[in-house]
Amino acid sequence: MTDTSRPYNAIVIGLGAMGSATLFHLAKRGSRVAGFEQFQPGHAFGSSHGDSRIIRETYFEHPLYVPLVQRAHELWRELEEASGKRLMTINGGLMIGPRDGSVVTGTLRSAREHSLPHEVLTAAEVRDRFPPFQLDESLAALFDPRAGYLDPELCTAAHVDGARRAGAGVHFDEPVLEWNADGEGVRVKTSKATYRADRLVVAAGPWCSALLADLELPLTVERQVVFWLEPERDAEQYDASRFPIYAYEFEPGTICYGFPRLPRGVKAAVMHSGELASAPEKVDRVVKASDEGALRAAIRPVLPDLSKAPARGSDVCLFTNTPDHDFIIDFHPRHPQVLISSPCSGHGFKFASAIGELQADLLTSGSSRFDITPFRIDRFLGA
Ligand SMILES: Cc1cc2nc3c(=O)[nH]c(=O)nc-3n(C[C@H](O)[C@H](O)[C@H](O)COP(=O)(O)OP(=O)(O)OC[C@H]3O[C@@H](n4cnc5c(N)ncnc54)[C@H](O)[C@@H]3O)c2cc1C
Repeated sequence: MTDTSRPYNAIVIGLGAMGSATLFHLAKRGSRVAGFEQFQPGHAFGSSHGDSRIIRETYFEHPLYVPLVQRAHELWRELEEASGKRLMTINGGLMIGPRDGSVVTGTLRSAREHSLPHEVLTAAEVRDRFPPFQLDESLAALFDPRAGYLDPELCTAAHVDGARRAGAGVHFDEPVLEWNADGEGVRVKTSKATYRADRLVVAAGPWCSALLADLELPLTVERQVVFWLEPERDAEQYDASRFPIYAYEFEPGTICYGFPRLPRGVKAAVMHSGELASAPEKVDRVVKASDEGALRAAIRPVLPDLSKAPARGSDVCLFTNTPDHDFIIDFHPRHPQVLISSPCSGHGFKFASAIGELQADLLTSGSSRFDITPFRIDRFLGA
């Protein structure tokens, strides 16, 4: 029976990537915490399902993310040790695009600024090393040896299990209906009870806007479709020991990306190509022939065989976008006891372990060793 009379040190709303990691890091350092999730563990309605998430050390989006991903890398390995589960596979990553495009120039910039290991490959070298990739001479490629992929379902479950073992209350199938500031703390009403806490973390992913309606944040929920393809020829060439993760800038500023062959097939998707919605409930979850056509057209110039491979499956997942595609990690402007975490614009999973630690630092000591000024919420207030 939950003791609802005694306030928690912190309550976390949402046990996806960010919420589970935050709950874990808070519980590990002895805080009295509880996490609430509206669905079952491993559900497929949010942003953290689908077998695989890219992690890469070079970061074409901006070099500021490199220290955060380096810390995330260490923490994923620690979580692997603690959980006994294989969470991360480092098989290398190819960043492909026009020489003067944002992927190639941005990857090089982050590698040079942070002295990261990387190789610049010609189209012929790419073909020799990774035969499924057939690059046109006009394209350049960079190899990031510390890139790879995470298993999102296992990562999230490992954080939840670790939090539970460290004493956290974990409540699945218990949606938070509303929260209110209560003096210097918060009162959180769920479908089952009302709880009090000193601090609140809103890690609700695509549902953030609903829980923070008063802020009128300019967030959008984006439909993202992924496909699992099954190569009919030389399928072993797509195994993780031979085939890297990749991002290919097929149009200026737009990428498609993919993974090696895993049990469900060779997963690939076009990034930021979906319709925008104001709420998760408004997203069309039906996959259409046009989604598949767009993916095949995007990968065809670099992965011609894969572009013809039959599809074994598909899925719809959600991005929560900020206008500049950088994150929001900040306290509520009117309620400093409330930490807002999540909107990760489709590239947040790899950082979740480090964001969980960072958010636990903010909640317990008020500061973090990372520069989080780019993630401040005031850039969107009153916009
Ligand atoms: C198809 C796809 C591919 C991606 N690829 C990559 C990648 O390769 N690399 C990478 O780094 N990132 C990637 N991302 C982005 C990354 O997965 C997300 O940034 C990350 O998973 C977001 O986690 P989250 O915790 O913010 O959201 P979620 O995982 O959606 O978690 C939010 C949780 O809050 C719960 N919740 C909401 N409201 C309530 C409420 N009122 N009460 C209780 N619970 C509530 C939800 O049910 C949900 O479980 C991808 C995303 C998608 C969709």
